[in-house]
Amino acid sequence: MLAFAFVLWVMSETTIDDARPNLLPPDVHERRMRLAIRAARRSVDLGGAAIGAVIVDPAGVPVACGYSLVAPTCDPTAHAEVMAIRRASARLRRFHLPDLVLYSTLEPCSMCLGACAWAALGGVVFAADGKCTPIEYYDQHSYRACARAKCSRRDGRGDPLFVLDGVLRDTAAALLSG
Ligand SMILES: [Zn+2]
Repeated sequence: MLAFAFVLWVMSETTIDDARPNLLPPDVHERRMRLAIRAARRSVDLGGAAIGAVIVDPAGVPVACGYSLVAPTCDPTAHAEVMAIRRASARLRRFHLPDLVLYSTLEPCSMCLGACAWAALGGVVFAADGKCTPIEYYDQHSYRACARAKCSRRDGRGDPLFVLDGVLRDTAAALLSG
């Protein structure tokens, strides 16, 4: 039954022109963000911060997920977004991901946004902004700084990174504060 429901969900996603994430209706973004929130809960179960990310393909099918492993592995670079990008690239055996979109429960920090640019992701969607996190020294302005710098794709076209914020913001913020 679950497999059948999953197939229906994938089919419903493929009816939408996902090549342009800016044209997707809000409920599609919310459905994908719930996968990132699920990953964030997994991080909490492992003793990490409540931050999760998922990367989806043009049909909306999850390619990889990631969650914060900073505390469990003592690795300051093991942010959810970086972990998701590493897994997606390893799975697809390529480091250039312009057809994929990353969903994160928290506004990407400067390191993660840089990783998104190096991966040439097609877009970044996040839930809670940097002000929602109790993490000390969190770079609240990293996204805006990169946006001002017109963070570009590596594919040579120079298109700015598509960024959408506030998708399921309250849910993600509550998870962070908890
Ligand atoms: Zn980060």
